[in-house]
Amino acid sequence: MFWLSFLLTSPVVLVLGWWCVRADAPLGRLLRRLKRLLWLSIASKAGIGVAAYTMGKVVPSLLGATALIAGAALVFGEFRVIFGWAYPVEKAQRSFPASRGDYLRMRLRLVWESLAPFWVVGLGALAFGDLQRGAYHTGGLLATGAIALGVGLIRRPLPLPVRSVPVEAHLLAEAQRMGRELGVTVREILVLDGTRLRTANAFALSGGRIAITDYLLASLTELETLAVLAHEVAHLAQRRRLIGVWARLLSVGLGTAIVYALLWERLPLWGVLVWVSALAAGMTQTILRHRQRHEHEADAFAVSQFGVEPLESALRKIATIHQRSPHTQSSAVHPALATRLQRLRHHARN
Ligand SMILES: [Zn+2]
Repeated sequence: MFWLSFLLTSPVVLVLGWWCVRADAPLGRLLRRLKRLLWLSIASKAGIGVAAYTMGKVVPSLLGATALIAGAALVFGEFRVIFGWAYPVEKAQRSFPASRGDYLRMRLRLVWESLAPFWVVGLGALAFGDLQRGAYHTGGLLATGAIALGVGLIRRPLPLPVRSVPVEAHLLAEAQRMGRELGVTVREILVLDGTRLRTANAFALSGGRIAITDYLLASLTELETLAVLAHEVAHLAQRRRLIGVWARLLSVGLGTAIVYALLWERLPLWGVLVWVSALAAGMTQTILRHRQRHEHEADAFAVSQFGVEPLESALRKIATIHQRSPHTQSSAVHPALATRLQRLRHHARN
């Protein structure tokens, strides 16, 4: 029954995906719908897993781990098919030269980024249950898996392939100067291949590295590029603070886990689910609020360095390239372009 309802989520997701791609909507709306569908797909599987757990159907942790792998495989399979349908639509609308394989790799990487936190929580919960019961071997194994995955997420792998062209020396020198101002070392600026997928983006990575796509570099003037780099340098400086926030959250989680373990015998089976969900929700909200504030501060730093115009025109160009409407929020962290520009001008006035 568990496996059957698990499997049955896939045809539903595929039908909805087919409908989304066929609906002939503008690209931005299509991608937002597919994102919502991805959450629906993940949530339905997580919900079934949780229901099975509370009914005591899936207690052995190895079976739980198998369910996690099966759930991820189903989500990947569904979105491999759905993005296969979306490829010609997006290729036609944004006229990029990328092959179907490149496109699917990029899209499925984003699917994995959404899926991985659930994996960390799922593995962590299974490990907790095992350690609780004294099954230290499997518990340790699962906990190691959860920690390795969590570290991998924090380290943030490269989102696109690196190109062997270096960025101009004075851009790096200027980024390093801004880094010194914020007390962070900028070691390297990597140029990523954004041309094949028409991706205009920049990223702050681990180890003092900043990455910027060649497509963005080619679209911006020098001053606009510097404004974008200033924003990313500020993110580099924030990374350390964000890791500190993570560390504090994890110690709070561990503290409640110990209290929970002491009360274990007296609490019902679903108690652990309430605890895990409350903890996950609290952590997500805290991190999200921090990251929203960081975006704000990074924009303010760029404005303090180069004024409002270069960042504003860079953000407008990026929104045009990605066909984002100025009034819709592009992600949970970034506000809509119109709101963001309003804030930039506010910073410039102060
Ligand atoms: Zn940012």
